[in-house]
Amino acid sequence: MVRYISTRGEAPELAFDDVLLGGLASDGGLYTPRSYPCLEPGAIAALAGLPYAQASAAIIAPFVGDAFGADRLLALTEAAYSSFRHKAVAPLVQISDSLFVLELFHGPTLAFKDVAMQLLSRMMNDVLERRGLRATIVGATSGDTGAAAIEAFRGLDRVDVFLLYPHERVSEVQRRQMTTAADANIHTIALRGTFDDAQAILKNLFRDEDFRDSVGLAGVNSINWARIVAQTVYYFTSAAALGAPARELSFAVPTGNFGDVLAGHVAKRMGLPVRQLVIATNANDILARSLTTGRYEVRAVAPTQSPSMDIQVSSNFERLLFDAYGRDARSIRALMGSLEQSRAFSIGERPLAAICAEFEAHSASEDETSAEIARTYRDAGYVLDPHAATGVHAARRRLSRDPATPMVALATAHPAKFPQAIEKAIGRRMPLPDHFANLMSAPERFTILDSDEKLVAKFIRDRARAVR
Ligand SMILES: *Cc1c(COP(=O)(O)O)cnc(C)c1O
Repeated sequence: MVRYISTRGEAPELAFDDVLLGGLASDGGLYTPRSYPCLEPGAIAALAGLPYAQASAAIIAPFVGDAFGADRLLALTEAAYSSFRHKAVAPLVQISDSLFVLELFHGPTLAFKDVAMQLLSRMMNDVLERRGLRATIVGATSGDTGAAAIEAFRGLDRVDVFLLYPHERVSEVQRRQMTTAADANIHTIALRGTFDDAQAILKNLFRDEDFRDSVGLAGVNSINWARIVAQTVYYFTSAAALGAPARELSFAVPTGNFGDVLAGHVAKRMGLPVRQLVIATNANDILARSLTTGRYEVRAVAPTQSPSMDIQVSSNFERLLFDAYGRDARSIRALMGSLEQSRAFSIGERPLAAICAEFEAHSASEDETSAEIARTYRDAGYVLDPHAATGVHAARRRLSRDPATPMVALATAHPAKFPQAIEKAIGRRMPLPDHFANLMSAPERFTILDSDEKLVAKFIRDRARAVR
């Protein structure tokens, strides 16, 4: 049975359900399986044609130990993926000879975060129910992740969600995606302040042991291992659909916090024949620079038309480093100590060689991103969102050197979410899907609070059902 260890080696070993409910390990590290389970070639081939929920349950089963029985797990994946608007959940679309787009945006908020979040929420609720406990989720958001969390947790009995966003500093669509959930367990707080104020309050709440314990604070951000596991599934299903394991293929992944592309690394470790994992970044190219120079160096974030990839630090990269350093936790502690002290670290020669054998990285400027949207529309009649466009841009770079290996480019958001970027690139607007029609007229519900940690903590304590 898979047990979980921290990348920094100084936290207790845990089972899946504890990793699911916890956030960071107590030593500041990230939980990762002690060893990766393997999927036999026959089992990979058998995924072709299976309904997505069944494939998902089969791939995730070895990770969960006895946290969920096979029937229970299948019931959870079926519930999670019934919320998707496309029957295949994650369909493939061919846009040129060797290039396929994997559409991950058919969930309720039109972004790939739904794929993992819809399952994570149900797993959490299930474990809490069995333990007779409730939990509280608090997040700070400028938009997309918050909406995915709300859609995933709304109406669940065991979890209350509190989301902080900067008052009058998010777009109307972003705000409405958060404020129109009518469910009693969803609370949106418009903070009089900036996104940084919201994030600072959130950090302090997580540091406050007394608050954390009293409300049963749980984390759903992208370092949660269950999210990574849920994301390995579509690497397998898309590869099986294209002939794996008999045929090797590559993936190009629009990358921010490194969760999505790490799931590709996990799939490869589990036995999927992956030739190359192509990291796509926008102008915030820390990962592309790191692979070229061996030096991971944090700079200022530049805002782009692909905002979900505007990051300084890719948290999940620590999990890849752990593998690249032969799972030597002492090395990881040294690297992360250096990152904290001087905002940079150098990757050793051997681990860097291991990373570069498996990954390559390409960044797309703003102009290149727009040009890719235009080119793909012109050549294939297909509209990419700006995040997916960075992925296709990087995919073409790889294909120019390796045209024989089929390439799957992950499309992480629906183009209708970024109408200005699309209009600028191809001169037409993408309509929102029908089920978004009532977003602009549905009643909104939110509370405006001053940017004061004590006020926010009291607001949460007064409403969280986990408080006994
Ligand atoms: C979150 C997000 C990404 C980046 O994914 P990571 O797992 O953080 O690397 C890319 N595209 C979109 C649309 C996203 O929402």
